[in-house]
Amino acid sequence: MIVLKTGRLIDGTGAGPVNGATIVIDGNRIAEVATRSESDFPAEAEIIDLAGMTVLPGLIDCHDHLAMHRYDLAHRWGLDEPQSTRHLRTTAVLKNTLAAGYTCVRDAAGLDAGFKHAIEERLIEGPRLVLSLAIISPIGGIGDRISPSGASPFDCGCGIAHDPLLPESVVNSLADVRPVVRRMVRAGADVIKCATTGGASSRPGHGPRDGAFNLDEMHALVDEAQALDRRVMCHALGGRGLDIAIAAGVNSIEHGSYLDEDPRHLERMAERGIFFVPTLLVYEYHRKSPQPHVRERAAALTEHHIESIRRALSLGVKIVAGTDAGGHGHPANAGELECLVKAGMSPMQALQAATGWAAECLGQEADLGTIAAGKLADLVVVRGDPLADIAVLRDPQRIALVIKDGAVAADRLQAPNPGCEAFERIAGEMIGRLSAALPVDAVTTAP
Ligand SMILES: [Zn+2]
Repeated sequence: MIVLKTGRLIDGTGAGPVNGATIVIDGNRIAEVATRSESDFPAEAEIIDLAGMTVLPGLIDCHDHLAMHRYDLAHRWGLDEPQSTRHLRTTAVLKNTLAAGYTCVRDAAGLDAGFKHAIEERLIEGPRLVLSLAIISPIGGIGDRISPSGASPFDCGCGIAHDPLLPESVVNSLADVRPVVRRMVRAGADVIKCATTGGASSRPGHGPRDGAFNLDEMHALVDEAQALDRRVMCHALGGRGLDIAIAAGVNSIEHGSYLDEDPRHLERMAERGIFFVPTLLVYEYHRKSPQPHVRERAAALTEHHIESIRRALSLGVKIVAGTDAGGHGHPANAGELECLVKAGMSPMQALQAATGWAAECLGQEADLGTIAAGKLADLVVVRGDPLADIAVLRDPQRIALVIKDGAVAADRLQAPNPGCEAFERIAGEMIGRLSAALPVDAVTTAP
């Protein structure tokens, strides 16, 4: 039994913080959340004093690409380094992501089921994983891998073979939709990822408002996913493709930059409980892309994206945090929470986007995303107050303790408090400046 004496508890439901609460962990679940003294607990209980720290549910990122590390073609096609090196690189990302307080990640394509098995078998460390494997799209969509010369990885003569763990995701016709969904599930997909539009970084000619899939195909995709008890996460930015995704009844709209352009979009999402995963962080990167068409698209969608978030909040559409990391490297996932606050969410709403609402988006709210008796014990302990400064979550030195499945996954409780370090540094600088400004004997001579 582990007893956490918290400085402050934020439970992920949106309720205000509670000072001095105690969390009792028994096995891999939370047994109790209470306010009582430690003398009430059995002598064998391990009591951890977290005075001055904030305890949150383990954070959840609902759109990541953990096995991707750059955007360039050689990397995307797997030509730039041995597969073994790449897998070890991915393993390091998984470990770092967990240590940063992210106890659950939904991978939006690229990560195969072997990583999930390895984490569950404790061969490697990492968050709980919800896998999509690959992006299902029609010919010409973002799942159709093609180079600017028109070559595909499988006919370029460079020896690239289909990886059976990441099944072929291009749909050739309506009749092809259901088999592709079934192959994803057979290979271990927990969620079906598809795309009905281009995006900021997709090839010229297939931009954010350019469609992919027709309504019949999307109906078949959603229907088959539901028959296999899988949710559908759909990359859709604007135009007809965005309309088709919502009409077909996907469970979450990924990116959704131009949701503001038709008032019916967000109204229907509110009615149907469709989640909105805006992934703002990746567009900060795209706005500085070396490719002009990517830069222009990212700049053009920014104001619409912010307006879409504002309207979604006013209509009660739940916004969920996802970084879309991978192509732009793996910056701190909590950078997305800062973006959400800058876009108009309160710090508490941004925390819900990465906890309670995120768990609902995954359909795992019975176990994850909030702190209450009976939930899985996935927790993160932060030095400081994320409601006062959401950026504290982005600083690895402030993530004092991470608990996943009732066990300590990362422990920096003994590390120096960064707040104190900063204070000492500033105090040292002030003394230095004072010394320089005063006559030598005023500083060094005793009175
Ligand atoms: Zn993505």
